[in-house]
Amino acid sequence: MNSPATEPPPLPLKLRGVTKAFGKTIAVDDVSLDLHPGELLGLVGPSGCGKSTLLRLIAGLERIDSGTIEVGCELVDDGRKWTDPEQRGVGLVFQDHALFPHLTVADNVGFGLRRRSAIERQTEVVRLLNLVGLEHLAKRYPHEVSGGERQRVSLARALAPGPRLLLLDEPFASLDPNRRTQVRSDLISLLRAAQTPAVLVTHDQTEALAVGDRVAVMCAGQIQQVGAPLDVYARPVNRFVAGFMGEARFLPLTAASGGLVTELGPVVGDSAAAANSLAVVRPSDVDLEVDPAGTAVIERAEYRGATWSYEIRLASDLLVLSTQPRSVVAPAGTRVHPRLATHHDVVIIPADEPPET
Ligand code: ADP
Repeated sequence: MNSPATEPPPLPLKLRGVTKAFGKTIAVDDVSLDLHPGELLGLVGPSGCGKSTLLRLIAGLERIDSGTIEVGCELVDDGRKWTDPEQRGVGLVFQDHALFPHLTVADNVGFGLRRRSAIERQTEVVRLLNLVGLEHLAKRYPHEVSGGERQRVSLARALAPGPRLLLLDEPFASLDPNRRTQVRSDLISLLRAAQTPAVLVTHDQTEALAVGDRVAVMCAGQIQQVGAPLDVYARPVNRFVAGFMGEARFLPLTAASGGLVTELGPVVGDSAAAANSLAVVRPSDVDLEVDPAGTAVIERAEYRGATWSYEIRLASDLLVLSTQPRSVVAPAGTRVHPRLATHHDVVIIPADEPPET
């Protein structure tokens, strides 16, 4: 028998078969997902794929049709049993901050501590304002601080009652793009310092890759893949994940002696898979040589500062992308000879059509 010391700590969040429809729209479709202690999970997917509905179900702002939701090992919704949002120990941070305009920064942070004694509340507000680096703004009103600072006030307010987990819905969406990277890295450090597990919803794949210990990729109400950012990018399980998490094009495979071949050269893989698989080709996978006798043509050249992004039409009429240093200048119409830079790293996925988004 295991001693209590070796038992794994309880999961802050456990979803099993969670489903929610609005009329004929299945917004969340049979979602099962675990959040590990202390973990930051990026939940990413295109607009309308069900991310906010999933957060609202976890928070208790909507009721599930079927499945189970456990928060900190406590069943909070199974379609019959139901725990009020206030009793779930789930903190929320939204993109619009939702701060009370007539309360100071300190009073906003202390709002969730109304049942504590005045002295306890004050001590806790000071601790949280210190944590988010806003002690000097305690007496200001929300309209007197910047967007990034308002975001930190929201975070401190959500952390104040000591939630078992935090849910953040597009927390950076309303920030100016120049400030977003800084606010994002500050917020990640703060969440880590607070050691509160969190699910952060975003439609921006670079944000999900940058934020998450793990990333869950959602499409059409379903979780398509959950994994470490590197795995989700480098080992996508299907066409949707490959195309959504980074630029990619897909090439058919044919069996050749001892392996597989694409139009751009051989790749490592089992020749039995050729008929129903595709090679995922990312812009960094494609080398090119300007060659007047080449059978491929640059269709579009886009200058991106440090690099060029080239879209290349192959002899088969399929398109691939290639990222090249800025010294490789090849305007649209240039004939080229493209090939795979490495045949070992090319990912092979099932050829199934992606779900509609
Ligand atoms: P996301 O957050 O990924 O943009 P949502 O969870 O907001 O997606 O929406 C998922 C789907 O459910 C969409 O088709 C949306 O129109 C629908 N939906 C969300 N909330 C409601 C609602 N209260 N009533 C009807 N349809 C809804």
